[in-house]
Amino acid sequence: MKYERSSALFKNAQKYIPGGVNSPVRAFKSVGGTPIFIKSAKGAYLTDEDGNSYIDYINSWGPMILGHNPSEVLEAVTEQLKNGFSFGTPTELETEIAKIITESVPYIDQVRMVNSGTEACMSAIRLARGYTSRNKIIKFEGCYHGHSDSFLIKAGSGLATFGSPSSPGVTPGTTQDTLLAKYNDLESVKILFEQNPEEIAAIILEPVAGNMGCIPPEKNFLEGLRDLCNKHDSLLIFDEVMTGFRLKMGGAQEYFSVKADLITYGKVIGGGMPVGAFAGSHKIMKFLSPEGPVYQAGTLSGNPIAMRAGYTTLSILKDNPSIFHNINNTTRKLSTELSIIFKDFGVPVCVKQCGSMMSLFFTAEDIHNFDDVTRANHEYFNKYFHFMLENGIYLPPSGYETWFISSCILGNEINKTLELTRKFLSKI
Ligand code: PMP
Repeated sequence: MKYERSSALFKNAQKYIPGGVNSPVRAFKSVGGTPIFIKSAKGAYLTDEDGNSYIDYINSWGPMILGHNPSEVLEAVTEQLKNGFSFGTPTELETEIAKIITESVPYIDQVRMVNSGTEACMSAIRLARGYTSRNKIIKFEGCYHGHSDSFLIKAGSGLATFGSPSSPGVTPGTTQDTLLAKYNDLESVKILFEQNPEEIAAIILEPVAGNMGCIPPEKNFLEGLRDLCNKHDSLLIFDEVMTGFRLKMGGAQEYFSVKADLITYGKVIGGGMPVGAFAGSHKIMKFLSPEGPVYQAGTLSGNPIAMRAGYTTLSILKDNPSIFHNINNTTRKLSTELSIIFKDFGVPVCVKQCGSMMSLFFTAEDIHNFDDVTRANHEYFNKYFHFMLENGIYLPPSGYETWFISSCILGNEINKTLELTRKFLSKI
């Protein structure tokens, strides 16, 4: 049996780990079937516990922008390990990575390291509230900013996959200050500002939505949010956990030429290690403890192994700006060709792509926001997913997720993906 060991491992995992996984989307609940247990990865490929290999279009949900296990990062981390795993003290490396981040990204002076995207967004919101002395925040339906309580209202990612708009355990008190707007709909944001004068601390959004599938911002949407924040003295927070150091070295601010007040990071800046960060101008960041009154901390924050992996990854990206150009081109080619193939076979599809992120939505309608995504044919996506998996292509296991392209995905991988898609369509 092709997945014999994965099936046995999943069975055993369910005994000791809730649902057998440490993060819900991994359980394949949306697409059905048994999750594949991965043993190793190199370049564009994953190898599972049964020895099957796959072209990886998830790339650890974004961070493996250079593909898996790049030798320069591996060597740097191996060297770093010899010095010790964690000190709980300042290290020179933390300043070095903060320097490369602040020098690469417009409008930010300082950066605080944390251990995950969740922590980054949770802390950025606290800082925004502390800085503005206001309580309310605006978030968008279908955007995901980690699993801290105040964001678990109509969030994307696993919550979209499982159709749970919110979560038990989150108190109404926590969520009453989270206001919901519609992605790509400035009017819905304007109304919230009118209804809550001088109460909104910040708007937080994914500048390219990636947790309801990939939905790029439409013309003037980000600019409009910037204007509204200026008008109402609120902060604009770009959650760049997916887009940071992926769209471009300077992230969405550089890609779209729109300034944010705070940026949150994860994924790429840890090179695959558990890292997040948030950043902004010194005027705002000085409100953080120990310089200022807004408390935020972390025993393992700035961990030397994670910092070395991140620093090496960012240095490679900085020295090779053609990487962004190449992965964006590869993704454009893949998305365009897939769109043509599905249309040739008469299957309605809406393909969305921005930089090296993309999604296929099986619908004849255009996709602008979360409601549109819920109307797509997710059953069809699931069939496509399983056919591709069976044939060695690992797509994200939900039609609400984004495909991430790494610099190791090249012509061969793209051709195989296109060829298998044609095969799927002629069979179905
Ligand atoms: N923000 C965004 C945009 C994300 O995509 C994610 C994770 N997918 C998070 C925040 C939370 O990050 P983490 O899973 O590292 O806590």
